[in-house]
Amino acid sequence: MTHSTLTRRWQSAMMDNFGTPRLPLVRGQGTRVWDTEGNEYIDLLAGIAVNALGHAHPALVRALTDQATTLGHISNFFVAEPTVTLAERLLTLSGRPGRVYFSNSGAEANEAAFKIARLTGRPRIVSTQGAFHGRTMGALALTGQPPKRAPFLPLPGPVDYIPYGDTEALRSAVTDDTALLILEPIQGENGVVVPPPGYLTAAREITKSTGTLLALDEIQTGIGRTGHWFAAQAEGIEADVVTLAKGLGGGLPIGATLAFDKAADLLAPGTHGSTFSGNPIVCAAALAVLDTIENEGLLAHAKRMGERLRTGIEFLSHPSISEVRGAGLLMGIVLTTPSAPQIQQTAQCKGFLVNAATPNVIRLAPPLILSNEDADQFLTSLPSILNTHHDGPPPT
Ligand SMILES: *Cc1c(COP(=O)(O)O)cnc(C)c1O
Repeated sequence: MTHSTLTRRWQSAMMDNFGTPRLPLVRGQGTRVWDTEGNEYIDLLAGIAVNALGHAHPALVRALTDQATTLGHISNFFVAEPTVTLAERLLTLSGRPGRVYFSNSGAEANEAAFKIARLTGRPRIVSTQGAFHGRTMGALALTGQPPKRAPFLPLPGPVDYIPYGDTEALRSAVTDDTALLILEPIQGENGVVVPPPGYLTAAREITKSTGTLLALDEIQTGIGRTGHWFAAQAEGIEADVVTLAKGLGGGLPIGATLAFDKAADLLAPGTHGSTFSGNPIVCAAALAVLDTIENEGLLAHAKRMGERLRTGIEFLSHPSISEVRGAGLLMGIVLTTPSAPQIQQTAQCKGFLVNAATPNVIRLAPPLILSNEDADQFLTSLPSILNTHHDGPPPT
């Protein structure tokens, strides 16, 4: 099977919503993947911040094969232990009592947050410009990117989109009739945008004073990505609702909506659900992800590797880079020109999978198991990747 054969088959059999994929892959192991022609790549994107343990991690493979051969899908008329254990573990990691609803994706985790917000009886929702909260109609309504919403209007609302990172905007937009304020601790999809220090704390104080639910979308930032179980723990924030997906299943599809205090009791029997919610196989896989992060010390490791990459990139002082931002292993390399798509392509030719999150930001979200050698290989190649697109003279 060659690249072009599989790509042609894709083009005739698949809907074109994603556009033609960059590259057909056949195998993954650890931080590496291989294409149909045997080329090896260091995977610095991890299925978009999903494969926390890399590819084919033995603990994950063992957990899901054990569960699949013991008890697979059963529906919510019944319950199996991995589902309850995972809910308990997530609450323990949050450090306080609450309740969990499981779904199958990030968008669905936010849909549940949206429905919880409706059940407060308040009409209004506040989100932020540039936010990404998913593609289903409710999650899309929360997404602060007009081009993504425009073809699908009308969407549920009303939702106000305020500038991200702006505390004064929060103060005037969040009022006594605001049901929900939803925020990403770091805007991932929008190019790894980090808010100013104290922003989340202010959001917590403002929502507390108006009786508004604060939902933190930790779908991309959660489960060790930033060196904490939850990114908001760096600021010591306790939200009313926390949504998770991406890294939680380590590659299996799972979403989770955690709710605390009075928000935890709003979904009554019959108000929400999904056939696959709490599927034992994906829950067993997620437990293996959490166990492995703990056993292998991957929170500290993610922080350390993030520092290694950041200082390594900054040390280059490359004229094409204006800033490196993010936390832990969620990193945005901000470019001085809108050259991210070409740089993504050059990186791929040189054996690195990265993501052009926006025209001028390269996003890195590698597996949390990234090694020193992986990071250093990328740092060594980065100048030549960037120089291909550098307009001025090459740096000396
Ligand atoms: C990816 C992402 C989503 C959507 O998750 P899906 O699994 O693609 O539906 C929502 N919010 C954030 C912050 C994300 O990064």
